[in-house]
Amino acid sequence: MNAWDPALLAAPPLTEAEDRLPPGHKLYALRTLPMGEIRAIGFDMDHTLARYRAPETDELAHRKSARLLVRDHQYSPWLLEQDYDPAFAVRGLVLDGLRGNLLKLNRERQVVRACHGSRALSREEMELVYGRRRLSTAAKGFRNIDTLFELPESHLYARMVDGLDRGLLKAENYLQLFHDVRWAIDTVHRNGEMKAEILEHRDFFIPRDPQLALTLDRLKREGKKLFLLTNSEWSFTDGVMGHLLNGQDEARPHWMDYFDLVVVSSRKPLFFTDTPEAVPIGGHPRAFSGGHTAWLEARLQAEGEQILYVGDHIYGDVLRSKKNASWRTLLLVPELERELKLLEAKSPDLRELFRLETTRRRAQRRTSVIQDQWKRNRARRHVLGPRLSTEAMAALDHEATHLAASAEALQKRVDLLSLEIKGLQSAVEAAFNPMWGPIFRDRDEQTRFADQIQQFACAYTGRVENLYMVDPQSTVYAPVPALPHERREMVRS
Ligand code: IMP
Ligand code: MG
Repeated sequence: MNAWDPALLAAPPLTEAEDRLPPGHKLYALRTLPMGEIRAIGFDMDHTLARYRAPETDELAHRKSARLLVRDHQYSPWLLEQDYDPAFAVRGLVLDGLRGNLLKLNRERQVVRACHGSRALSREEMELVYGRRRLSTAAKGFRNIDTLFELPESHLYARMVDGLDRGLLKAENYLQLFHDVRWAIDTVHRNGEMKAEILEHRDFFIPRDPQLALTLDRLKREGKKLFLLTNSEWSFTDGVMGHLLNGQDEARPHWMDYFDLVVVSSRKPLFFTDTPEAVPIGGHPRAFSGGHTAWLEARLQAEGEQILYVGDHIYGDVLRSKKNASWRTLLLVPELERELKLLEAKSPDLRELFRLETTRRRAQRRTSVIQDQWKRNRARRHVLGPRLSTEAMAALDHEATHLAASAEALQKRVDLLSLEIKGLQSAVEAAFNPMWGPIFRDRDEQTRFADQIQQFACAYTGRVENLYMVDPQSTVYAPVPALPHERREMVRS
């Protein structure tokens, strides 16, 4: 007999070397990536090639923005006393500027966790404000926390909401705070002060990884055209890239030696939709400011799916490049390594949760069967009552009492199990972040952030250097998609 084996649908085996990699060093494909067909590979700079030391860089943005708000918008100096809390926000959340809230959404865009200012909202409070409505976060007054740059913005906003609620700050409403904090963070990024400080102390703020040069060098030697496409301006890009790559390899002494094309001030996501002219950077024949997709493709003689773009911004780097330019995309998720380590550390608890949930579901089903038997018993008594002998009636009643007691005992067990599960689940999730839990999941649901990754990224990984272990000519296989009937899961049934 031909037995149906779901393993037939599993992804083809990895190479041995890939198999042995620690999970944090792997590249996870969502769409099969034929590296041999890729002619050009582009890199975003900030939070992709350059990782900024956290939380110190975020603290810097927080402090400078608070100062601006006090100096130029007359906010109370109380704001300067508020320390930055690096654990307060995580990527993938959404700011609700109308209500002074920060939200975690599930893949259906329903609110699953929320806080007002820095106070967590209860389920009831959340239900009252948002219900099970799907939120459209593209609407005015919302801001998606899509990059690590936006974490300090979330915390500063929350503190300002606290300040307004406690009468310590003056503003018309939460929305004004929302606009003012946006202005401050935006100014801090644009006025050059923060970047000057980062560059001045680059050894501290921008850790170097010798594997970066090796990774880029391997790709180049394999005939890939490499390009840099960053929203940062030339002077900052030159400073950061020089710090990362100059002198790392005698054969490529200058950072530009790794790239066939460098595009700064690229205005992503507009780079993928508008057509501004590319302006050459004096003295650097392969470096330009501005430009657009068609111009870049013509210069590199590669287009659409022949281009792989590596970036950390789910919207500006991945969604738009995929939707508008049909590029393949690799999303950098620097949080991945930590989340994987926590999953590993918490695996005994996760196994226990699995066992408890299996028991709960079985007990719940058994309860419902017994309740049904009791209902059937009562219906029989009602319909047959007049025709039954006294003994038969007594037997029926006796059975009903027994069934009711069993159902009640089982229901109690289900309730106890639910409580135990809730407690253990909360403890596991709090290890990721006390307020928000993991960034990819909430209980059994995927988050909006995870859903966006699934929809738009071809692959994702924690560090750009992980590309070093990927053979530039072979194919990175995605798991074969399967509907539930095609899987043999460890179903919690
Ligand atoms: P990329 O990630 O390399 O494309 O570059 C991101 C650039 O955007 C960096 O130069 C950041 O300083 C800048 N940036 C991040 N957030 C803001 C903002 O809110 N306003 C203006 N520039 C920003
Ligand atoms: Mg970036």
